[in-house]
Amino acid sequence: MTKPTLKKIATDPSCMDDYDPNAMSVAQARQFIQQFLSPVNEIDTLPVMQSLGRVLAADIISPCNVPSHNNSAMDGFAFKHSAGIKLIKIIGTAFAGRPFTGTVNAGECVKIMTGAVIPAGADTVVMQEKTVTKSDCITVLEAPNQGANVRLAGEDIKINQTVLDKGRQMTPADLGLVASLGIGDVQVFRKLKVAFFSTGDELVSVGKQLAEGQIYDSNRYTIFGMLSRLGVEICDFGVVPDNPDLLEKTLLKAATENDVVITSGGVSVGEADYMKALLAKHGQVLFWKINMKPGRPLAYGKVGNSHYFGLPGNPVSTMVTFYQFVQPAIQALSGETCRPMPLFNVECTEAIKKATGRSEFQRGILFEDAGVWKVKPLPNQGSGVLSSMSAANCFIVLDDTVGNCPAGTNVKVQALQSLI
Ligand code: AMP
Ligand code: MG
Repeated sequence: MTKPTLKKIATDPSCMDDYDPNAMSVAQARQFIQQFLSPVNEIDTLPVMQSLGRVLAADIISPCNVPSHNNSAMDGFAFKHSAGIKLIKIIGTAFAGRPFTGTVNAGECVKIMTGAVIPAGADTVVMQEKTVTKSDCITVLEAPNQGANVRLAGEDIKINQTVLDKGRQMTPADLGLVASLGIGDVQVFRKLKVAFFSTGDELVSVGKQLAEGQIYDSNRYTIFGMLSRLGVEICDFGVVPDNPDLLEKTLLKAATENDVVITSGGVSVGEADYMKALLAKHGQVLFWKINMKPGRPLAYGKVGNSHYFGLPGNPVSTMVTFYQFVQPAIQALSGETCRPMPLFNVECTEAIKKATGRSEFQRGILFEDAGVWKVKPLPNQGSGVLSSMSAANCFIVLDDTVGNCPAGTNVKVQALQSLI
């Protein structure tokens, strides 16, 4: 059966069984969004050093063995192993980068440095500390096993082996790994273009005086920060008041020029919130009530060819919904292979009150207590308390099956450092 289009679902939600926009779990909503995401396919070719954080558009295949030659893991003497060998004659020296060019016969050895190529004829290295040197001979005090202290060619990577997979986001280690193969350029997917703006009559940009009832716009700053960490191209459309014409103009311009548009505020049902009506008019946006705290209302859909995310306006809700829905979607659209975020079980030192049937992302502090890491929830968990996001170093992730947790319960945590 073909999947219904976004337009069909937006205009007739009953066209799908088991779809209730007013009771979506976090996992359901995330999965739902994933089915509409096709990654970008344009490719940039970049020097390795410029590819940090970018997503590989092709596998990296090794053109060589690493190491390329059998080489010594120790400073010592390379010799041909045989039973009972004790006294051996030194016939030369092998340095890293300056090999010994002769052949080693039985009863002979070559003084060898770490990383130097094992000379022809030799198969074993005895550590310098296990020998005594007298004029041009060594006495082996403790005979190593045959093959000891030799790093074999291809031991790390074999020629034609796939070293990094397409869809991988390049890390500092990957830059070095690719360079170690002698590869100078890599193919990566182009950067995703992401636009965002804040909506609300009450919002004022920094640098202006606040009048009665106004607040400073903070969501554009947190969204800017979270997007910057994802390495996308960012376009900031500023603050747009709750004015239907201005909102429509800004939305359409942002959608025409970008792969993704993110707005905050105006997707719940406040009186002056025109965003929802405007999106409904464009016909391909779904409005959900997610069983989560913070961050209940969420809109997802397409405006033209652009993916649209309407995040709730409360500052903590904006951040939590960004991490749960927008970040994985941006990664998928960027061509990145899905990487589940690690969750760890740790003891929670305080009681948490919670109802089953919804997921909560409480802000917590992981701390060390006599060598054991534990977590403590921050006291104010309000969805407008942005200082709790600044103070936290983890989310305490309580899924819909979890109810009240007495102090001492093991809870799941997600470190914020691993997210951003
Ligand atoms: P809304 O989702 O538009 O109903 O907004 C919910 C709450 O979040 C209201 O208290 C808004 O004032 C607040 N809010 C909305 N947008 C922002 C923003 N960009 N920065 C800070 N607070 C906001
Ligand atoms: Mg609003």
